[in-house]
Amino acid sequence: MTVKGNFKQRVVVKVGTNVMTNRNNRIVGPILKNLVRQIAYLYERDIITILVSSGSAIAGKEVLGECLAEDKTTRRQIYSSVGQPRMMRHYYTMFHDFGMRCGQVLATKRDFAPGKYRENMINCYEGLLNEGIIPVANEDDAVSLSMSMFSDNDELASLVAELVGADKLIMLTDIDGLYTGHPDDDKSKLLHEVKVHDQVEKYVQENEKAEGEGRGGMESKLKIAKLTASKHIPTYIANGKDENIIIDILEGKRKGTEFKL
Ligand code: GLU
Repeated sequence: MTVKGNFKQRVVVKVGTNVMTNRNNRIVGPILKNLVRQIAYLYERDIITILVSSGSAIAGKEVLGECLAEDKTTRRQIYSSVGQPRMMRHYYTMFHDFGMRCGQVLATKRDFAPGKYRENMINCYEGLLNEGIIPVANEDDAVSLSMSMFSDNDELASLVAELVGADKLIMLTDIDGLYTGHPDDDKSKLLHEVKVHDQVEKYVQENEKAEGEGRGGMESKLKIAKLTASKHIPTYIANGKDENIIIDILEGKRKGTEFKL
């Protein structure tokens, strides 16, 4: 693939732990590969993706199994420290197979406050994007604790979308979008379009409030989607296990739930 730096669109895609793992909490390589395939397809069409990927903690657990530390926070730090390079090895190899390059950008919440850290981060993202290198972002989970923590990677993805002036934010999860009731209930309908001021919070189900190993959940996604859309960035909640989901959304097919101003 030739190096290019001029893209028609910037898209932030956030992929959560629940998308990339199976029931046994193992990372499923073909799912990551399928995301990378779509990002490569879009790249060829002058759309560059910033990938916000979770998975550090779960990837660390895959390697270490149990760890000795008794303190929960220390355990999370250890898992993330071991797992983050494992995630990057997956992505490095997969992007390389498509003739593409990727770079890691870890952040804590502090980095987004106005000032030098923020400027450094903008500089890094612009540098990567101008070289056609796909930024792969995650929270710096090994050192990001309490005060400097994002509520979840949905919040990180929204902040990144704003920082890079993204044209769209796509939050991938394991259901098709926001439903008017329980997603498994036949009477529930998928909402294709939600305006920032629509009162849809009542539709979030009790069991959608947290998502297994990851943080976040539908309640958080809804809040973040509205917030991001209110900043003129159309935002989607969609199913990351749907094979062509990123491409379909960008080609204007009615997939997922779109949040707009
Ligand atoms: N940053 C965490 C990880 O990579 C996930 C946070 C979240 O679930 O939103 O494991």
